[in-house]
Formats: sequence, C-alpha cells, structure tokens
Amino acid sequence: MIRKDIIDLFRVPPGKKFRLKDHNPGWKQTDELEGLGKDAVKERAKETLERNLADLAEAQSLLYADDRYAVLVVLQAMDAAGKDGTIKHVMSGVNPQGCQVFSFKKPSAEELDHTFLWRYTRCLPERGRIGIFNRSYYEDVLVVKVHPGLVGRQLPREKEKPGKAFWEDRYEDINAFERHLVRNGTVILKFFLNVSEDEQKRRLLERLQRPEKNWKFSPADLAERGHWDDYMAAYEDAIGATSTGWAPWYVVPADHKWVTRAVVADVVTTAIRGLDLKYPDVTPDQRKLLDEARAKLAAE
Ligand code: ATP
Ligand code: MG
Repeated sequence: MIRKDIIDLFRVPPGKKFRLKDHNPGWKQTDELEGLGKDAVKERAKETLERNLADLAEAQSLLYADDRYAVLVVLQAMDAAGKDGTIKHVMSGVNPQGCQVFSFKKPSAEELDHTFLWRYTRCLPERGRIGIFNRSYYEDVLVVKVHPGLVGRQLPREKEKPGKAFWEDRYEDINAFERHLVRNGTVILKFFLNVSEDEQKRRLLERLQRPEKNWKFSPADLAERGHWDDYMAAYEDAIGATSTGWAPWYVVPADHKWVTRAVVADVVTTAIRGLDLKYPDVTPDQRKLLDEARAKLAAE
C-alpha cells in the first residue's frame, strides 16, 4: 500500500461526527500483506519500518538544515498502548539534537495556577526540530473530563461543576492555539494509539507476571482502566471536536505494536516531506569564501 492511502485510512476528517467504533484497534491488513503467512508479514513489517526510519532520518536532517518549520507530535493513549515504545522506535534513527521529548504528568501547584495551556507552551519545539509530547494538553479534556475534580481552581466560574460549555470552550481554545502554531510554522501531528480493552488487559497482566516488566505496572493503571467507557467517550468527543484541517488527528491501530510504529513513522515522514524544505542556498560571496577555505586547507 502506498503511503497516502495509509494516511487517509487513519486521518480523522474535520467536521464529521467521529466514532471510535469505526476504527479497529486490531487492524494489520494491507493489500500488500494479504495472503502472506504470519512470519512473512512480520518480516515485511520490519523491512517497512526500517525503510521508514531511514526516510525519517533524511527528512529530519533537511528540516533541521532548512530551519523554518517545527514539527509537534502529540501522542495520546490509554496506559500500555505503546506510547513509550513508539517514541523509542520511531525516533531511534533521528539525530538526537533535532528532537525533544516531553512527558506530561499531573500538573504541579504552580502549573495549576496558570491557564491550562501554559505548561505546554513552554515546551514547544523550536524551528528545525521535532518535539514530541508524550501526553499533552489533551489530558486537560480527557483525564480531567473523566475526573472533573482535577479542574480545581482552573474553573473560572467558582463552585460550578464543569459542564458542556466548559469542555467546548476548551476544545475551542485548543483549536485556536493550534491554529496559531500552524500559522507560525509548526506542523502538528496528533496520534491516538487505539488499543483495545482486551489487549490492554493482556499487556497489564504481562507487566504483573514478568519480573522484568513489574516496574512498569502502576496500580493507577488499573483504576483508570475501570473508567474505560468514560475515557472512550472523552476521546471520541475530543477527537471529533479538534481534528481540524490544520491539525488533524490520526487514530492508529495499537493492538499490534509493529503496525503502530510503522504508521506513526509513515505519517511523520510524509508530513515533513510535504513541506517545501531545502538546504540553505549558498550565495556567490559564500561560495567564494568556501573555495578560498578549501584551497587554503588543501595547501597546508
Ligand atoms: P508510563 O506509565 O508509561 O510511565 P504515563 O504517561 O502513563 O507513562 P504516568 O506517570 O503513569 O505516565 O501517568 C501520568 C498521569 O498523569 C496519567 O494518568 C495522566 O492522565 C496524568 N496527567 C497528565 N496530564 C494531566 C493533567 N493535565 N491533569 C491531570 N492529570 C494529568
Ligand atoms: Mg502510566
């Protein structure tokens, strides 16, 4: 399958009612792979990912040299959906100097004293770089929507419980914030790693059973799993309201890790390649300087 088809398959079109049930977390079939045995599929997937990583490394080095655009990658998912593994694999081939990762946990008291977007604006990528948000301002319409008590003093109307209008204001703020970034040279790519409830259970059990994975288990994961349906509803609303022409969402199948990684790498690479990037031009004066320097060095 060619890249564009893959990307269209997972991109959420703006303005349409978005339903998670139209997206299969277990998707792994492409026309190209149909009919191949299990091992052959894995082998082919590995090759695809390797090719993607090489392409991504090349795209990133051009992004860095061109120095006009920044790329913001937003990763959102339920626990154990593979955010960490995706970051590790997808970014394994790129130059660390051109890439920044920020993980967002529960906000501090200082952060809560500001508007909800404040802490994220401080971590935005500079021109020439890829910035990854491992969780993001979307938590403020996801976990916070599932547990409205977390809003705290960020609720402008004292004592009221956040209602429909409050969340709609936040979606609107997010869209306006992203529009501002895009207008000023940031490309925004948002990924929801769509893992199924069954696969999450399997992965959490694995964390409990395998000693080398124990450290990854947190009792909080189980508590949040208990709110699965509320989270899915919150994701559905948030993705539907914030998949825009300027900052689209991609709903990526996450029950098979190799699929997730290949799709994310593909989307990021294609987006960077779609920019009009070029290595900076050398002016005639600079050319003269370079020629002189080369002659001098060679004569040493
Ligand atoms: P991992 O479990 O792989 O280490 P993680 O991203 O799940 O990665 P944790 O430390 O387990 O990291 O969890 C971070 C927690 O912080 C999540 O439960 C998330 O919902 C919560 N969080 C993130 N942003 C906010 C926010 N703005 N308000 C409240 N809670 C938040
Ligand atoms: Mg966690």
